This record gives sequence, structure tokens and C-alpha cells, in this order.
Amino acid sequence: MVLTLFSNGMLLTITNTAAPATDLGYLLHKNPARLQSFPLSFGQAHMFYPEASDERCTAALLLDVDPVGLVRGRRGPAGAGRTLEQYVNDRPYVASSFLSVAISRVLGSALAGRSKSRPELTETPLPLNAKLSVVPCRGGEGLLRRLFEPLGYEVLAERHPLDEAFPEWGDSSYYTVELRGRVPLKDLLTHIYVLIPVLDNEKHYWVGDDEVEKLLRHGGSWLPAHPEKEEITRRYLKYRYDLAREALARLLDDDLPDPDAAQQTHDQEEEAVEKTVNLNEQRLNTVVAVLKSAGAKRVLDLGCGEGKLLRALLADQIFEEIVGLDVSHRTLEIAGARLRLDRLPTRQQSRIKLIQGSLMYRDKRLAGYDAATVVEVIEHLDQARLAAFERVLFEFARPATVVVTTPNVEYNAVFADLPAGKFRHHDHRFEWTRGEFAAWARRIGQEHNYNFRLLPVGPEDTSLGAPTQMACFARA
Ligand code: SAH
Repeated sequence: MVLTLFSNGMLLTITNTAAPATDLGYLLHKNPARLQSFPLSFGQAHMFYPEASDERCTAALLLDVDPVGLVRGRRGPAGAGRTLEQYVNDRPYVASSFLSVAISRVLGSALAGRSKSRPELTETPLPLNAKLSVVPCRGGEGLLRRLFEPLGYEVLAERHPLDEAFPEWGDSSYYTVELRGRVPLKDLLTHIYVLIPVLDNEKHYWVGDDEVEKLLRHGGSWLPAHPEKEEITRRYLKYRYDLAREALARLLDDDLPDPDAAQQTHDQEEEAVEKTVNLNEQRLNTVVAVLKSAGAKRVLDLGCGEGKLLRALLADQIFEEIVGLDVSHRTLEIAGARLRLDRLPTRQQSRIKLIQGSLMYRDKRLAGYDAATVVEVIEHLDQARLAAFERVLFEFARPATVVVTTPNVEYNAVFADLPAGKFRHHDHRFEWTRGEFAAWARRIGQEHNYNFRLLPVGPEDTSLGAPTQMACFARA
């Protein structure tokens, strides 16, 4: 049965081999014993189960796209004026955004990870295998792999010849694709939903702002960490660069997954606590002012995070060479995307460099700069290892100017939302009083031969001081 249907339309099958395998039916909200059909604006979708045993259960979604109805119902500016091409094209037979539409219409609950009778299974990784009968891979097998392999799938791809009767015509860009992985069903569906139209790179409907919402909704949890996120976003939004930019910015802003670092939510969390005073901006302005007054032109931003200070430095041509260092690769990637480094004019590009490294280890790349800034970083370091950092910066890198900022813990009492005794961010290892910070700065000055002055940043409370404390060191 599968074979006859196959030749008429596009087929997606999903096989579960975790016993009882027929739980797949509960997850898909579709009874394995029935064949069901669903009318869609562009044709019909059929759901059925070619096999359903305890050990192995396969669900099939067959799309029957109506080529004539397709043209009649066509929306958007590209519809008019084309004739034959509208009827003779690959749309009815390949996995395209039609498949995504069908998945969301027919399997919407499964896509959203809802299951009434097996709620615990929606998050459970299952041994799943998805086969797509005909996938147009514009970008080739390489792109296919770059899209799915980082998500943990084993990818099997078989390329179709252009025409079996004429092998000399060579290969087409169509593949039969198999994805094997141990993932929750909703993840598999979501990945297919987003990435098949990306592979196809041709959308049948007009791309508007709600596509951004869809992409954020379905890609929010995995796309920010995907190495091809920019290509995916561009293609998904059909090269509407304005939308792609917006989507990327919002993906990176709102939907960061946690695994590799608390740092990534750092901005939001700490900003939320500190928002009353727009402290972040004051801090950056003060740092820039200190650097300028010291005459620094070549500047290191250590623990640069997502690059807010880097952006301010880049905007001021007085800074000739700017280096952002951070321990987190992911954070640096985000910084690169935020600063749009790949799109800067060459002359600007040559002013800035992002490097990965740890402040715990002596690093030759840090030598020879006029100034180093360490903005809201030391409180993320284990106090026991602060000594290593001190030597790396003040003994080995030894720039003429060093600017260090850190929260003033006394001021936390002012933040109404912050429970007593809690730090401003869950990854902070310590927060110092003004006395503690001053003692630290004094010791650094003595041990490494730097003069220093302390500056409050942000609105000062008469008894508690300012929210941020800053130490500016000058090599003696
Ligand atoms: N300076 C930025 C980021 C502050 S968050 C800002 O003001 O917005 C602290 C940053 O320090 C994070 O990006 C984190 O990845 C980085 N960091 C933590 N430990 C580090 C280490 N040992 N070496 C280098 N960077 C580190």
C-alpha cells in the first residue's frame, strides 16, 4: 500500500521502536487502526499506520497536493503572470513547506508537545526514525547534513537521478532522506517543520511577519545554538533580510537555552534587577569616558559577554584596536552576531577581534594593550581563583590602564525585587561591599605597582553608596 501511494504524493513516515511502540498513536493523537483524511487548502493529507505492533509502529503522513487547485488558490505577488510553470512543477511531489503546513494542521498537538493520555512521553527521547520520500535539497547533501546532524540525527540520504530512463542526465537535487535519532517526538516534528522548507528553499506562500513568529515559536529552543542558525533563518524567511535580522536578534535575545552558560541570561536577569536606574548604560558610558581620558587606543575587553561595551568602543573611531575575550564560545558567537561582524566594512572589521580564552590562564595574546576593561566579571570568578586572574592581568598582560567594575552588595537593599541576601545574578560567586572592594584594589595596587581611584557608578544612596563600584588602575 505504501508503494502505490508513494508514487502519487509526498510521504513522511515516522517509526517508533520503543515498546510499547504503539504509544506513537497516543502522541500523534491518531488511532493506529484507522485511516484518516484531512482536507487542506492545497489538497489532502492522509494519516495511516503501515505497521503497528508492540515492537515497531510506523505512522505515515501522505500529502496529496492538487496542482490545479494550487494555482487557482495561489496567493501573493508571484502568482500572476506565470503560466505553464504553475502547473508543471515539483510542488505536488516533494517535501516542501506544504509538509510543514500539513504537520501543523494534522499533527498540531504533537508538534506542540501536548498529549492527554501520555503527557510524560511528550518530553521523553524515543528511538525514532523519520523517512521523507522526496526532499529537494537545494544546497546539496552537505547542507542536509549541516542542518540535521548538529541536532543529533544520523542522516541517510539517497540521491535520485534526474530521470531513471536516462541515467546520463545525471543526478537531480532530490533525495530520499532518513533521519535516525533518540529525541522526543515533538522535537523531531519541529525540526522537520522548520528545516524541510529551509532545504527546499522555496515557499509556496507569501512570507510575512507572522513567519517570524512561527520561526521563533518552533525554533526558539534549539535554533540559537544551531551552527547554521543564520542560514536557516535567511532561507526560512526567504531572504527577506529585514525579517531574518529581526528573527535572529529576537532568537538570540529571548530564547537562549541554558546549557553552556548562565552568562547568557546574565544581561536579562541582572538588567531586570537593576532596571530602575538604567545602570548598564551609565556603566558603559563611564568606562568609555575613563578609557578616553587615559588616552587608550588599543583596548582589551575581558569577559566581554555579548559585546555591549565592544559596540560602544567600535562606534568611537578613537579606539583603533578592540579585542573582546570571553571564556564562552556561545557568548562570543552571540557577540559576533549582535555586532554583525561579518557585515562590517573591511576597515571596521580590522579594528575588532573576538577571542576565546580564560582569564585564569596566562595568555600571550593579552600583552601590549593600552587598557583592559573587566566589566561585571570578577564576581563570576571563584574567589579562590581570583589570585590567578590577578596575576594574568596585572603581572603578565600589564596594560597601562585597567578598569574593573563589580556590584556594590550594600546597594542591593534598594532593589525591591531582590530578596535579602540574594545576589543580583545566580552565577555570581560573591558580591562585595565598598570596603571589601577598596581593600582588594589597595592590595592589587601595592602588589603590582598600580595607582588606583574608586568611582561610584549610578545614583548614589547616602548610606548605601552607588549600585556599581568601579576601580580605575593606572600603571605606576
Ligand atoms: N562584560 C560583559 C559581560 C559580563 S557577564 C557585560 O558587562 O555585559 C560575565 C562574563 O564573564 C560572561 O560573558 C562570562 O562568560 C565571562 N567569564 C566568566 N568567567 C570567565 C573566565 N574565567 N575567563 C573569561 N571570561 C569569563
